[in-house]
Amino acid sequence: IPAAFDAACIFCKIIKGEIPSFKLIETKYTYSFLDIQPTAEAHVLVIPKYHGAKLHNVPDEYLADILPVTKKLAIALDLAVDSPEGVGYNVLQNNGRIAHQEVDHVHFHLIPKRNEKTGLI
Ligand code: 5GP
Ligand code: ZN
Repeated sequence: IPAAFDAACIFCKIIKGEIPSFKLIETKYTYSFLDIQPTAEAHVLVIPKYHGAKLHNVPDEYLADILPVTKKLAIALDLAVDSPEGVGYNVLQNNGRIAHQEVDHVHFHLIPKRNEKTGLI
């Protein structure tokens, strides 16, 4: 599968290693890494190795790998959290400036929620 990158895109540069990132899982179709300005501890981004600004610009084979990778990351998070009810988290994905998208390369946020009682994420 030929990867389609945009030389000026910050997330394409991260995939290519031109900008450093804290990499988590990398597959044929996806790359995941820690968000540089986390809204919560262990805030993760999962992105396709294809430059598409919005969800509908990305081919299905790339999108099809996003949720399995997000699931693996959530499993790791769940194992890391010593909480009886398990970890809580949000998965979200913004499209367009009007919807709060800042980086025009599709990305899924995996945002753990801190348990206020235990202090654990
Ligand atoms: P958006 O608002 O577009 O949905 O989210 C973009 C996210 O990308 C933000 O949470 C922001 O902190 C993150 N981000 C922007 N630039 C970089 C970067 O160079 N490295 C990393 N790791 N995250 C970034
Ligand atoms: Zn890109």
